[in-house]
Amino acid sequence: MQSVISLRPRLKPYDVCIVGSGAGGGMAAYVLSQAGAEVVLLEAGPTWDNATDGAMLRWPYDSPRRGADTRERPFGEFDACLGGWEIEGEPYTLAPETEFKWWRARMLGGRTNHWGRISLRFGPDDFRRRSLDGLGDDWPIGYDDLKPYYDRVDRLVGVFGSQESRPNDPDGIFLPAPKPRCYELLVKRACDRLGVACIPGRLSVITRALNGRPPCHYCGQCHRGCRTNANFSSPGVLLAPARETGRLTILTNAMAREVTLDRAGRADGVSFVNKSNGRDEHLSAKVVVLAASACESARLLLNSKSALFPNGLANSSGTVGKYLTDTTGTGVAGFIPALMDHVPHNEDGVGGGHIYMPWWLDNRKLDFPRGYHIEVYGGLDQPGYGFLGGIHRYPSGGGYGTQLKRDYRRYYGATIYLGGRGEMVPSEECYCEIDPETVDRWGIPALRFHWKWSAHELRQVRHMQETFRRIVREMGGEPLDPMPGQKDGYGIAAGGEIIHELGCTRMGNDPKTSVVNRDCRAHDVKNLFVADGGPFVSQADKNPTWTILALAWRTAEHIAAARRRREL
Ligand SMILES: Cc1cc2nc3c(=O)[nH]c(=O)nc-3n(C[C@H](O)[C@H](O)[C@H](O)COP(=O)(O)OP(=O)(O)OC[C@H]3O[C@@H](n4cnc5c(N)ncnc54)[C@H](O)[C@@H]3O)c2cc1C
Ligand code: SF4
Repeated sequence: MQSVISLRPRLKPYDVCIVGSGAGGGMAAYVLSQAGAEVVLLEAGPTWDNATDGAMLRWPYDSPRRGADTRERPFGEFDACLGGWEIEGEPYTLAPETEFKWWRARMLGGRTNHWGRISLRFGPDDFRRRSLDGLGDDWPIGYDDLKPYYDRVDRLVGVFGSQESRPNDPDGIFLPAPKPRCYELLVKRACDRLGVACIPGRLSVITRALNGRPPCHYCGQCHRGCRTNANFSSPGVLLAPARETGRLTILTNAMAREVTLDRAGRADGVSFVNKSNGRDEHLSAKVVVLAASACESARLLLNSKSALFPNGLANSSGTVGKYLTDTTGTGVAGFIPALMDHVPHNEDGVGGGHIYMPWWLDNRKLDFPRGYHIEVYGGLDQPGYGFLGGIHRYPSGGGYGTQLKRDYRRYYGATIYLGGRGEMVPSEECYCEIDPETVDRWGIPALRFHWKWSAHELRQVRHMQETFRRIVREMGGEPLDPMPGQKDGYGIAAGGEIIHELGCTRMGNDPKTSVVNRDCRAHDVKNLFVADGGPFVSQADKNPTWTILALAWRTAEHIAAARRRREL
């Protein structure tokens, strides 16, 4: 895929300028270019194409580092993400006593190149939590508003799953789900005995040919980027057809600095740093859509100060950067003797779980308000650098030579990992703001994060830990680590660590308490929209990207309709 790296001067403004090319930006570009708009997309990172840049089917010995992680690739050299927890020259800071981690991708397609592809719809209750338990806030839209867009995302992008008729885990238009692997069957059996719901996974991996893309061939390496585009990434599935319209211009290595305004206070374009030459440039557009990821879009708004908007653009409510959420997370690894000494076989499957456990309990009977789901990892996929680290913890494991090699063969595949992914309650104590003293390499002010888990989340992860240990023991296994105690937050991951950050430009009907309206249009600026996870009012216990895609589609359609009415 070719991208433009420098623009020729244009006489006319673009119809729409989108900032960011991940899930939200990719979808906005797809829908708006199909709807006839001349779209320009600014992406801070370089171009990336799975077909040529991904590391699918490479062996560890093809790499001098055996695929081990590097500073530039913290999730391993073969992982399809340029970026990470730290990016040179692009700092962020933490308020005292804050533990927060911020993963940023800098590449065409953003994090959709290496994400886990767990693709869950939010359920009806997820949009009205305050009405149900008095905590947080309701969304100004409900499941019925998003359902048609979830359906379209399912049809366009593709997702496998099974019809389950669970009230708060809506079924989609599913492709057939792959069968559980051996370790997943054992997990399911244990869950059935314990009364824990366990159903086929829901991943955006196509198990049948769809829209010109071939089906998955089960190499289990989705995080490396799929060369055949059998899983979802924004460049392969959204940007490619958008470019075919001839109406999408992609400008890579373009770091947006500020949204600019005309005299009437309407957005009239975006100024950006052309990273190829370090120069500041400007693009004019009639509509601006921010999709730089929840926190980056908030940063852009807070840095877009003017006489009209001295506290940052679209921030008359003071809520830009506020109500930042992440998924709660913790996990338990367990050694399962029944999985030892297996007959060697290929059970690679897709690069993600063939099963998962949706939230199955009633919070009214528990000491915490919101639910979680469980993700399951294990199996016999291609061993990577450092695999079976800590083998000395297994019976007779460790040592040297033949004995050690034999133990690797015996124990490989005999460990499972259960990961909890839960809903936090949005809090005034979790937010980001501009750090007055820190700028990035281009002089753009950086974000400072504030974070504090509440007792709700801590009780929830204690429940996760207890449940996962019960499942491991029910399988005849032993957890590899002792149960973390209260002083360790029961093993709760740091804020941001699950990489599902949402909020910061939340939607609402009241311009005094929210940044965008129910169509993700800024209350304060008629032609400014947000199409990433920023408008989310609450997190849900579901991974967020399917909802980002559905919401971005809805937002883009709203823009297209307003353009047809000549309102924009
Ligand atoms: C390892 C991993 C696994 C995950 N697994 C799942 C999962 O299984 N299910 C799920 O639902 N979610 C998952 N997620 C989260 C998912 O990736 C995100 O929710 C999703 O990508 C967010 O989309 P986005 O468009 O908001 O942001 P991104 O995908 O991050 O895209 C934002 C883009 O904006 C660009 N950008 C940022 N600032 C600027 C600027 N100033 N100017 C120009 N461009 C800019 C970035 O370079 C980036 O390309 C996972 C994430 C990771 C990292
Ligand atoms: S498991 Fe399937 S979707 Fe994933 S990388 Fe391999 S072929 Fe592609």
